Amino acid sequence: MSGDRMKAVVYQKKGVFALEERPVPTLRDPGDALVRVTLASICSSDLHIKHGSVPRARPGVIVGHELVGVVEKVGEAVRSFRTGDRVAVNVETFCGSCFFCQRGFVNNCTDAQGGWALGCRIDGGQAEYVRVPFAEHGLNHIPDEVTDEQALFTGDILATGYWGARIGEIQAGDTVLVLGAGPTGLCAMACARLYRPARIIAADLSQERLALAQRMGVADVVVNPLHQNVAQAARSLTQGRGADVVMEAAGGVDTFQTAWQAARPNGTVCIIALYEQAQSLPLPEMYGKNLTFKTGGVDASDCGRILELIRQGKLDATPLITHRFPLERAMEAYALFEQRAQGVMKIALFPSPGN
Ligand SMILES: [Zn+2]
Ligand SMILES: [Zn+2]
Repeated sequence: MSGDRMKAVVYQKKGVFALEERPVPTLRDPGDALVRVTLASICSSDLHIKHGSVPRARPGVIVGHELVGVVEKVGEAVRSFRTGDRVAVNVETFCGSCFFCQRGFVNNCTDAQGGWALGCRIDGGQAEYVRVPFAEHGLNHIPDEVTDEQALFTGDILATGYWGARIGEIQAGDTVLVLGAGPTGLCAMACARLYRPARIIAADLSQERLALAQRMGVADVVVNPLHQNVAQAARSLTQGRGADVVMEAAGGVDTFQTAWQAARPNGTVCIIALYEQAQSLPLPEMYGKNLTFKTGGVDASDCGRILELIRQGKLDATPLITHRFPLERAMEAYALFEQRAQGVMKIALFPSPGN
């Protein structure tokens, strides 16, 4: 800890992120852990914060909510973790004991610090150190055989993909359509695969992303809406019915409409995207289709299971890491991520050497 100061990426105000020097955080509550960050990623939700479309994001907060690290120090109420443990940090802070937590709906934890707080309402992990409240629930042990890069996406995009596939109630033999082959969409496809669907269809405007979906082995069929109507493509593969389960991970201008149009009658549409605009629900047009919609933000309550699947070789999101930057070059990394330059999918930030 160089003089108890550290580098951190800060949301200064709408439109402005900057690298700042901040004090190394300290423990505040007995349930806290202090984690030395070894890898943190940049997430598209960070850009949503930058663009001002996350109203609860607090200006001045250190961003970053997808990270792995090593426990530096724990509060006296923390039993399951000790100094030196390698951990994946959960995007969600949750108490584990309220009405919603008890039911696994940790995104709606009613504690004042509950829900997506890290890197949004409280200081997050694009920094050298981070304080993790409710560490008993917010941390997961990384198995020895699993590398930091393999574990990096556990707490956010893999958790989201896993949750989307779970609430989609995918059955063996189903046709699953995933809109958006960005990082979250690709994780959703990888997790959908665990349920042994007949086929996974990936739709995206980018050929590059569709090619990655195929290379990763998470999509059987790829559709580019620039060249092909997605709903028609889904129907042509299912004797005219449509997809059994649609996961909408694109959050585009018209992708919500595509999602319900491509679903078969009585199918399930999972909206896991975070939209920047309101969407319309054309009930007269969808009358009689009897769809089930599931919406919202991840309940990241399966991180232990996800790490075990990674250990078993059943989930591998490492092909998503296209770029690696030291933390002190985070602004350069953000520019590249925001411009979607150089085929960027995910960027891993690592602590600057010498610190
Ligand atoms: Zn995120
Ligand atoms: Zn709770």
